[in-house]
Amino acid sequence: KASIKSDIEIALGSEMKNIKDIAEKIGIGEDDLEFYGKYKAKLSFDILHKLKTKEDGKLILVTSINPTKAGEGKSTVTVGLGDALNKIGKNAMIALREPSLGPVMGLKGGAAGGGYAQVLPMDEINLHFTGDIHAITTANNALAALIDNHLQQGNELQIDPRRIVWKRVLDMNDRALRNVVVGLGGPAHGIPREDGFDITVASEIMAVLCLAEDLEDLKARLARIVVAYDYRQNPVTVGNLRVEGALTLLLKDAVKPNLVQTIEHTPALIHGGPFANIAHGCNSVIATKAALKLADFVVTESGFGADLGAEKFLHIKARNAGIKPEAVVIVATIRALKMHGGLNKEELGDEDLAALQAGFENLRKHIETIDGFGLPFVVALNRFSTDSSQEISLFEKLCNQDGIPFAMSEVWEKGGQGGVHLAETVIKAIENNKKTFEPLYSLSDTLEEKINIIARKVYGAAGVEFSSQAKSQLLQFDRLGWSRFPVCMAKTQYSLSDDPSKLGRPEGFVIAVRSLKPSVGAGFIVALTGDIMTMPGLPKKPAAMNMDVDETGNATGLF
Ligand code: ADP
Repeated sequence: KASIKSDIEIALGSEMKNIKDIAEKIGIGEDDLEFYGKYKAKLSFDILHKLKTKEDGKLILVTSINPTKAGEGKSTVTVGLGDALNKIGKNAMIALREPSLGPVMGLKGGAAGGGYAQVLPMDEINLHFTGDIHAITTANNALAALIDNHLQQGNELQIDPRRIVWKRVLDMNDRALRNVVVGLGGPAHGIPREDGFDITVASEIMAVLCLAEDLEDLKARLARIVVAYDYRQNPVTVGNLRVEGALTLLLKDAVKPNLVQTIEHTPALIHGGPFANIAHGCNSVIATKAALKLADFVVTESGFGADLGAEKFLHIKARNAGIKPEAVVIVATIRALKMHGGLNKEELGDEDLAALQAGFENLRKHIETIDGFGLPFVVALNRFSTDSSQEISLFEKLCNQDGIPFAMSEVWEKGGQGGVHLAETVIKAIENNKKTFEPLYSLSDTLEEKINIIARKVYGAAGVEFSSQAKSQLLQFDRLGWSRFPVCMAKTQYSLSDDPSKLGRPEGFVIAVRSLKPSVGAGFIVALTGDIMTMPGLPKKPAAMNMDVDETGNATGLF
């Protein structure tokens, strides 16, 4: 065990090429790059514009079963599959999300892949990267300050301070800030009111940045953001405050995608990072579209399981951007399937065929979901050293019995070479596909119908229960013309249901919708289910306790 290198040790031991050499491979010259040191660069607006006339490559979406707390290796497989496609002579790129500091310091770890399938410089990507998330935090909080100042300066728009829905944000898990009171201290210090913080990756500004087509679209979306309601309960927008220009200005660099490389020098665009449980969970449309112009195959990831990230990728991002995946890779691990089959976290390393067989039902549900969208898929078994040969044979047998296409992924251990079979299986799935992609709900369905369709078809729920608050919001939103939007479900990632303790493939459960939140700028309505929080907390032993930096600036303990 001691000889196994950590992700950061492998990353720091890998040789990076100058980013201008990586860019050259995809036909981008130095003039179209904005350098952030030697290994990171943003693509200029110029090149993004020039690319528009080029033909699109094929998109491959990576998703997974309901994960354990550690993650099932989706980013790892995404990176490794990109490397493997290049190994078999395809011209491939990767499009990923930017990691949030919340999970980095908390418990999940980084989001730059793992083992020999990582994007570099891993430490910088996991920490401040090119500052995009900081810029989003700043834009979000500038807006919060402008709203409070509007109250202070006479409140021309008649904003009801009890109905301000715009929160402040921080890119950290900080439960102490979930509910706060601002404006205390007397007349010179503002109008006292209840406020709260969300994590930056749940900010509507993050969603807007990720769904915008370009700078103009970004500005138009920012202007549509609803920040509050006035005393007559009409929505008040960023446009009403006349600050969309300032917010766009703060985001003018953050909106450009970041180019980096994998350990094997595959080009990767990493841009935008909404969580998939409390936000829509996909990297930016700008990055995905640019990658599709620059490569024949683009491997991208949507967060958490297919019930969250993939559903939102297909219903929100793909529909919004007019793109669709040609194939979906569903990542599963024997460890997580055994957990879905009833084992405790401590027992996951022990061979248990009965638990594996029982837990396989979770994978089967996600396969049915992707199949229901009319998309070809391949199951990738992300191999861990603790998987026994008996367990692997049983997994293969269960797949073969149902005619499920699958391939083993050993990219964590071997890099692209460990994903060659997976890459070939995915290419075959694309070439042989006869199905047509179809969303599960149409935009003309009511919000209630949309939520019901997702709950029943994707989660396998018996139905949906709306709180009295949610019911009155459904009526209000319909009156305001917001029923036409897709829905962004906020739900636990651990279960198909809204109860994190219901593992496997639960049945007969009802999804409880607590409240709804309009994201008119992003163009979706958030439905908050169960106890899901938009500001997470840190665990008992935060990952931060293992981190350090040596006297030459090298990071340690970043997984
Ligand atoms: P996800 O994207 O599903 O959240 P990641 O790809 O980020 O998961 O992987 C989570 C962690 O698990 C990383 O630290 C990674 O190094 C580790 N990991 C992934 N695959 C394997 C594997 N096959 N064996 C051992 N560790 C792995």
